[in-house]
Amino acid sequence: MSKDASLRDALRVPTGPISTAGFDAGGRPLAPSAKKMAQHLEEMADLQERFWAESTGGGGRSVLLVLQGMDTAGKGGVVTHAVGVFGPIGIEYTAFKKPTKEELEHDFLWRIRKRLPRPGMIGVFDRSHYEDVLVVRVHGLVPQAEWEARYDAINAFEQELTDGGTTVLKVFLNVSYDTQRERLLRRLDEPEKHWKFNEGDILERARWDDYQAAYGSVLERCSTDAAPWYVVPADHKTYRNWAVAELLRETLTELDPHYPQPDLDVASLRERLAPPH
Ligand code: AMP
Ligand code: MG
Repeated sequence: MSKDASLRDALRVPTGPISTAGFDAGGRPLAPSAKKMAQHLEEMADLQERFWAESTGGGGRSVLLVLQGMDTAGKGGVVTHAVGVFGPIGIEYTAFKKPTKEELEHDFLWRIRKRLPRPGMIGVFDRSHYEDVLVVRVHGLVPQAEWEARYDAINAFEQELTDGGTTVLKVFLNVSYDTQRERLLRRLDEPEKHWKFNEGDILERARWDDYQAAYGSVLERCSTDAAPWYVVPADHKTYRNWAVAELLRETLTELDPHYPQPDLDVASLRERLAPPH
């Protein structure tokens, strides 16, 4: 059997100067057959159960999936269709919104640290500390010197997480300008999707180039050996969902979790469960 090619190798951000224009939002690298996809999803559920079970025996490891992308890139779809195969046990999901007044009184990583996954858990961040060098940079919400210092702070933070046993998987869902327009228009076409439409999204879309530049800096400055970035083409939804699932599957496979082996006296336990006379 030939060894499967690694999606992480295919989607990992290369070192050197980065422009998001260099990534194809419509690509489908290593897309498998529908049969293979279904098989992968089954494997994922099994791996996650083992990962969680292992922690009950004292395993200290966790995984953190960071999802970033422009509006309509599909962070929600990925949570439903890729992370969703795990079921709720073992998942800790957080959607980071505009910081509250209390959160703004602390360092930008304060609210992030509170939501880090516990051992055995897969933490999912729908937006993250990266907003503090994305929306914050694009809108100048803090002085430049302050957000400039955050790239190094983020790298140090993620190194600390990795050293503590957390595998950090960072995914940029790369949607194209044209596909975003189609998806926003579709939200207007369908009354059941109006609730998803946010006028603010049009204002953000008007800053597209600024956001792409900010994403370029993130990918260039914060893709480290400890915590690399992966760019997932997001114009095709089925591919996008599979790709994130596959990145998780590869990650969990490499972690190779094992069920704990408690020392049970099975014969005597069976005896005690025997039907009463
Ligand atoms: P949504 O994900 O569509 O529910 O929107 C969440 C909103 O919160 C987006 O407009 C983000 O830009 C905003 N947001 C998230 N984190 C931050 C942050 N650290 N600073 C400012 N705005 C943020
Ligand atoms: Mg939104």
